[in-house]
Amino acid sequence: MKPARFQYHRPTNLSEALEMVATLENYKILAGGQSLMPMMNFRFAMPDHLIDLNQVGELVGIHEENDRLVVGAMTRQHHIHRSELVAKLCPLVPEAYDQVSHRQIRNRGTLGGSLCHLDPASEQPCFTSALDGNIEVQSRAGSRTISIHDWTQMYMTPALGSDEIMTRVSLQPWLGPHGWCFLEYARRHGDYAIVGVAVMVALDAGQKIERLSISLCGVAPAPLRLSGLESALVGQAGDKRVLPAVHEHIEAIEEIMHDAYNSSIYRRHLTQTLTARALGIAFERALKAH
Ligand SMILES: Cc1cc2nc3c(=O)[nH]c(=O)nc-3n(C[C@H](O)[C@H](O)[C@H](O)COP(=O)(O)OP(=O)(O)OC[C@H]3O[C@@H](n4cnc5c(N)ncnc54)[C@H](O)[C@@H]3O)c2cc1C
Repeated sequence: MKPARFQYHRPTNLSEALEMVATLENYKILAGGQSLMPMMNFRFAMPDHLIDLNQVGELVGIHEENDRLVVGAMTRQHHIHRSELVAKLCPLVPEAYDQVSHRQIRNRGTLGGSLCHLDPASEQPCFTSALDGNIEVQSRAGSRTISIHDWTQMYMTPALGSDEIMTRVSLQPWLGPHGWCFLEYARRHGDYAIVGVAVMVALDAGQKIERLSISLCGVAPAPLRLSGLESALVGQAGDKRVLPAVHEHIEAIEEIMHDAYNSSIYRRHLTQTLTARALGIAFERALKAH
């Protein structure tokens, strides 16, 4: 199918783009187009105006600022995946990108596009949650920052006003020695995860858990941060002795997503298995990092 008719706009700077989102009716923003174009071709989305951000250079780039890793909304997934700075500050991120779609899609797709599209199975909101990401959005009236933990309003709906554009994302790197792991199960390599898990862990000198972050995708509309489990495990031995508590905690999650292909029973089982494996790898890496 072809998309319905629309008027194409190509702002060359952010203030032009902000003017457009403030004044045009029924518009869509075009980033990498890897999710939006299929939606338009299937006519799930029929905007009257398409605002293409690909010439807005202010929204592209990766740098460190006040101990946080800052990524412009229009930065291509490929550049984040291959960035030395990202690998140094947040090694969880390239490991997650190894499992995101295919090279051709990562060459066009952007982190901002993924966080606005907000597919519950996407690895990108999941690593953003594990790294306590903040999302910055801007309108003509000014800018505001939203924590990733408050970003999902409902299924595939971010907390983004109709006159706002996402401008950048900042992640909180872990400074001391730590371990990390991103694992997922998908039907084929490059598919969205059925379930994915991001783990970060720091151990103290006695090999006890000092700090822990566990985030899941494919389980709920928003990335699910297991903060109750994280605090329960701090002070425990950083090895497989924690696994019964992990299993029990995941068993107690009230609602787990299901669809025509994967039941919630299956997703719960995957979550338990993948979280145990990811913790094992993260513990090993944390030990080596000391
Ligand atoms: C075959 C295939 C497999 C894929 N597999 C995976 C996978 O395994 N994991 C994964 O995470 N993703 C996967 N994707 C999706 C891919 O990551 C997309 O690139 C991503 O979801 C959207 O990014 P985009 O830059 O292409 O955004 P677009 O498609 O251009 O836009 C997506 C949505 O975000 C809005 N938007 C974009 N940028 C902004 C902004 N700055 N401010 C406000 N709104 C904005 C758009 O209006 C639109 O509603 C796959 C895609 C395909 C086609």
